[in-house]
Amino acid sequence: MNWSELYWHRVTPFHVLLWPLSLLFIMVLAFKRLLFRLGILRSVRLPVPIIFVDSITVGDAGKTSLVIWLINALKAFGLRPGIISRGYSENYGSPIPVTISSKLKVVGNRALLIAYQSKDICPIWIGHDRVKVAQALLAAHPECNVLICEDGLQDVRLQRDLEIVVVDNSKQNFGNGLILPAGPLRDSLSRLNKVTAVVMNQKSSRSLVNTGSHVKTFYMRPGNVYFTNLLNPDYRSTISVFRDKSIHVITDSQDFLDQLKYLKINVRSHSAINHYQFTKEDLQFPDAEIILMKAEDAVKCLSFANKKFWVLHEEIVVDIGLRETILKKLREQFMDPKLLDILVCPLCKGPLTYKKNEKELICKADRLAFPIRDGIPVMLEEEARILPAEEEI
Ligand code: ZN
Repeated sequence: MNWSELYWHRVTPFHVLLWPLSLLFIMVLAFKRLLFRLGILRSVRLPVPIIFVDSITVGDAGKTSLVIWLINALKAFGLRPGIISRGYSENYGSPIPVTISSKLKVVGNRALLIAYQSKDICPIWIGHDRVKVAQALLAAHPECNVLICEDGLQDVRLQRDLEIVVVDNSKQNFGNGLILPAGPLRDSLSRLNKVTAVVMNQKSSRSLVNTGSHVKTFYMRPGNVYFTNLLNPDYRSTISVFRDKSIHVITDSQDFLDQLKYLKINVRSHSAINHYQFTKEDLQFPDAEIILMKAEDAVKCLSFANKKFWVLHEEIVVDIGLRETILKKLREQFMDPKLLDILVCPLCKGPLTYKKNEKELICKADRLAFPIRDGIPVMLEEEARILPAEEEI
């Protein structure tokens, strides 16, 4: 446990002192919501659907992995997502785009991490004002037809179509159960009953949270683990190759070290303080054949990395029901014919022909028929029917 976990999990006299501030925090939040509900403050509706993905506690809770999964899931359905974030950076000015080559100091760790892990496959914009960020992204990328906002569950100014909250199910996820600043909660737990879906990040089955019966709960679980070279992400390696190497690991995560131990990889570990910006001098280990990090630390080294730098990747497996829930909701937003109009073939990106009776979307170029199940087009190559040569299209 690091200091922040110790802090969030205890109730000391200091926490009691802070508790009135927590009360004030939740009252301000409730008051703000009331002003929006009464129409005294006006919320903004964007021309495209927007999905909020956030955790209810401080920290990531697995949110970034879910955002990457969501980008790919939406892409697989022929949708063109864009990401907006407030970012944690020095940039509190006007909206700016983020790519792998962005400066860490300017865009912040989190946005850079998403750009790195999503391999720049969709636009990411950050800035202080989420409404302006969303508008700037859509102006620069009119092809985007759905937005993902990767924070801001409490920001009611921006109207949203779906809210997905990630809950870390492997620790005592809600800490001492108090609201900020005395506890790790960013909103009251009853908020979980009002979101579209709760996603349990189930690293282990040690503790199970009851989210109530009125909200849809899905699970994300660890999938494959592999390594990629930081400078050349297409260069992959498996665990066995790393077993007899001299490896230095930079991390402050005990989970990560435990994981390496479980994978039977011997390492020398060096602590990395959260949010610390590494320099080249920090990471000089003459005997190291491999310098291994989690992606969130690795992106801090992009500007000075050499070929010894490797990144641990952990794929996630998400309940299929979540994808269906999201698409069902999106479909309601788009309204029937519109969604079918904007969908393209996930392989060739070409137009699709809608066969109403067969409930299929046909790509003439690839001779594939994508099924429409329960009104949701399933835009996955492995689910598509290959059209035999004699079938007319
Ligand atoms: Zn096609």
